[in-house]
Amino acid sequence: MAEIPVDRLRGSDTADAGAGETSVEFAAVPDAFQRLWTPHRMVYIQDGQQPHSDDCPFCIAPTLEDEKALIVARGTHAYVLLNLFPYNSGHLLVCPYRHVATYDQATPQEVAEIAELTQIAMRVLAEVSNCDGFNIGMNQGRIAGAGIAEHLHQHIVPRWALDSNFFPIIAGTKAIPRLLGDVRREIAKGWPVAGAPAAAATSVL
Ligand SMILES: [Zn+2]
Repeated sequence: MAEIPVDRLRGSDTADAGAGETSVEFAAVPDAFQRLWTPHRMVYIQDGQQPHSDDCPFCIAPTLEDEKALIVARGTHAYVLLNLFPYNSGHLLVCPYRHVATYDQATPQEVAEIAELTQIAMRVLAEVSNCDGFNIGMNQGRIAGAGIAEHLHQHIVPRWALDSNFFPIIAGTKAIPRLLGDVRREIAKGWPVAGAPAAAATSVL
């Protein structure tokens, strides 16, 4: 799987997030959250406890309204939201509600729902954005590139045949042509209602 250079995208929010949106209001992977990686928190993790963190954006997001948190769908054990620092338009993150750091700490129910939500996200993104492929994966641990290593999250990045790969590499930035609020609304609108077949998803493009 191609590496998702999330760290390269930090700081790109202000130009594309839209009027009135600020980075502190959304779950994402900004530099400001480096302070979460603190010794006292490691003690909790090493003791086998994963308490809800008042500072963790992936714990805070589900407590907010969908529009505010850029959430597109909520499951029983996990939920889906837009990444504030997208590699491409429609870049989604699937997170368990529980504050667990790594995939092996997820319960069977969380693993199953993360997988199910990932499948649905692929179908919805294909429907509403007509993408040609996906990069899907998890960066486990800060050394592996996780921006917020303390809370498990799976990336789903839609890819198009003609999307640019060189721009973020040479310029440290990425052109995201669409406002995040608009993208969230389209994906949420295309998300199937529980129990309904995926084919019922309506294209909004
Ligand atoms: Zn958390």
